[in-house]
Amino acid sequence: MEDYRGRNRDTRRRARHRRAIRNRIILTVLLLILLVVAVVLGKKFLDGDFNKKENTTFPAGTTAPAEGGDNTGESSQPETTAGAVTDQGTALTQAAALAASYDYDGAIDLLKSVSGYESNSEITAAISGYEETKKSLVAADITQIPHIFFHSLIVDTDKAFGSEKADAYNQVMTTVDEFDQIMQQMYEKGYVLVKIHDMASKQDGEMKKGTILLPAGKKPFVLSVDDVSYYEYMKGHGFANRIVIGEDGYPTCEMDMDDGSVQTGAFDVVPRLEEFIKAHPDFSYKGARGIVALTGYDGILGYRTAPKYGDPSSDSYKAEYASIDVDSEREKAKAVAARMEELGWEFASHSWGHKDMGQATMEHMKTDMQKWLDQVNPLLGGDTDILIFPKGTDIGSWRGYDDNEKYDYLASVGFDYYCNVDSNQPWVQCTSKYLRQGRINADGFEMYYHADKLSQFFDAATVFDKARPTPVKQMG
Ligand SMILES: [Zn+2]
Repeated sequence: MEDYRGRNRDTRRRARHRRAIRNRIILTVLLLILLVVAVVLGKKFLDGDFNKKENTTFPAGTTAPAEGGDNTGESSQPETTAGAVTDQGTALTQAAALAASYDYDGAIDLLKSVSGYESNSEITAAISGYEETKKSLVAADITQIPHIFFHSLIVDTDKAFGSEKADAYNQVMTTVDEFDQIMQQMYEKGYVLVKIHDMASKQDGEMKKGTILLPAGKKPFVLSVDDVSYYEYMKGHGFANRIVIGEDGYPTCEMDMDDGSVQTGAFDVVPRLEEFIKAHPDFSYKGARGIVALTGYDGILGYRTAPKYGDPSSDSYKAEYASIDVDSEREKAKAVAARMEELGWEFASHSWGHKDMGQATMEHMKTDMQKWLDQVNPLLGGDTDILIFPKGTDIGSWRGYDDNEKYDYLASVGFDYYCNVDSNQPWVQCTSKYLRQGRINADGFEMYYHADKLSQFFDAATVFDKARPTPVKQMG
């Protein structure tokens, strides 16, 4: 028993000794881990990673609307510049993201900004890979770029096609399901969204064609959405109410539900396209988004920004406007537009009163446009240079705008890009003064009657929403 106890004592002593050694090892390992964490955090802090709240910051001088949750009132922080990227893993990831949207130069520049990149085989391999891809790119023919357009999407087909405006909606609008299928099919066919400013831009006052380089088989196109105002007449007809910036910093929509609540979700083109590009970054060339065409008479983006909402002496004032705070509506609209612009969205004038500019007298056109320039342009940063003709009606023939006084006026107030509706073929006219582009309507009318014209983009027969009344009636 003694021996046994003695052996036990020895065993216990040895065990204590082993435990002490093990504890020291654990403590050392823990200290080492703490040290590594402290070094990494300190480095990240110095690199500015903690200041980089990507996609949730707003440009200086703007704040998110109240709907923006915790973003409200938050001051903006500068994003980390490419030059500050020192972490190789981060640099490779960021470069891959740039290359995914065809910005190979951006990707290469970013990798070359990593200090000592020359001796890092992973980085040099990535750089030569991007250089190789660049050599294989094909320059797009600017004059063959199509432009597809939509109106606000029908979310609730029962409401829209059951309303007194059913025929009009059936003709010129697209449903949420149709839009999703159109984007998917166009993506599968190799279409890539580009900006109209990528097609041509003014340099020293002269319009010059741009260079769009894409991998072989990829096809550039421009997208626009008209009348993103959520007009008063659309209320209760199954559309969104307005665009807001969601808690994630991306545009989304608010919509009235049957139970009286307001739901936030991707109820229109803007948030749906954002989501599609997030899932398919190669659908957008260098961060391109769509063009949003805005009138002014009922406000913009669902905000009641027009003077009539705050002026009881106005002819079009209604008692129900009493609760509207126009100044606050304008501030909210401004913040949403600024964030959209930051994400790559562009804005276009669609006239103030949805006027047919081809028919209008010179005087009426000027009066109408001045209202747009005074009331809407300042909410969009004041630099709008795209004009999307209401009703598709151009101010001139295909021959061009020589000796066209309407053009002279519109050019004098800043418009360089003019878009009509021409659903036959991609149509582009680029002179040293302006770029004109025909637009193709992807709506109920075109899908029902001209599926053949749309077949280069998508299969209208499979996309056409079964909830649509047929035949689609043609309105005036
Ligand atoms: Zn319109």
